[in-house]
Amino acid sequence: MGMSSSPLLRIWKALLLLQFVTGALGWGKEGHYAVCKIAESSLQFQAYLNEDATAAVKELLPEYADGDLASLCSWADTMNFRYHWSSALHYVDTPDFFCNYDFARDCHDSSGHRYACVTAAIYNYTDQLKSEYHNPGAVTNYNLTEALLFLSHFVGDVHQPLHVGFLGDLGGNTIIVHWYTRKANLHHVWDTSIIESAMKDFYNSDLTTMINSIQSNITDNELPLWGDCEGNQTVCPNVFASESISLACKYAYRNATPGSTLTDDYFLSRLPIVEERVAQAGVCLAATLNRVFASKVQIAESRR
Ligand SMILES: [Zn+2]
Repeated sequence: MGMSSSPLLRIWKALLLLQFVTGALGWGKEGHYAVCKIAESSLQFQAYLNEDATAAVKELLPEYADGDLASLCSWADTMNFRYHWSSALHYVDTPDFFCNYDFARDCHDSSGHRYACVTAAIYNYTDQLKSEYHNPGAVTNYNLTEALLFLSHFVGDVHQPLHVGFLGDLGGNTIIVHWYTRKANLHHVWDTSIIESAMKDFYNSDLTTMINSIQSNITDNELPLWGDCEGNQTVCPNVFASESISLACKYAYRNATPGSTLTDDYFLSRLPIVEERVAQAGVCLAATLNRVFASKVQIAESRR
């Protein structure tokens, strides 16, 4: 029996392929790192300065993260095998050719389980963190480190336009195109290829340079505009999802039919969208964590 026919190896290969095909990974490593990095520096240096949130994040991070949330921003992508239920939480699909998102209609997994989608996951992990920080001393069974890491990852995912794409093509996963000379699926182009090409062409292949550039383009007006949620909500993933499907229709799917070759025209017109979504995700994450972790102090004060 040769190596290639080993049943274990075949299962492993099938799993790898399955993961590649379903591709529920979200922004690639670089994209997620950028989102969390921007959130961290917004927490620390920008108008939003919030010492409580910075301290709480550092307290929840495992020691090996060395106080750096960004280093674990892709952690959730490594958990799909151990936590099978979590793979449906990276995205939400709309019915084919619907360019709007509706929580009641769309938030379920492929077997129809309600609330198995990215927006519900964002609500859930925000609530878990809040329940602890709203009620200090209350006993909860949540793993708050995991809640923080899932939340930070999913806020990034929901901002990737094709993480709120059409059901029929699995958010662009089954649309095979050429990215310049290479074969790729459209979902992967938006997760990874656009960012990789930008790094190479404009940022000296250096992620930090790219992040600094994205961050320096965030204006003082955009911070509250992107960070605030209507009606005093702690987090508003439905808004992010609606923006994403709208951008998916306007930019991601447009001129990217199966078999097409995407080059400079597509790349240069979509890159600003990708960079803005990464910036928005970072600001949203910072603002959300500020609200989650500020509540402890606010509640204590309001009870005096
Ligand atoms: Zn993901």
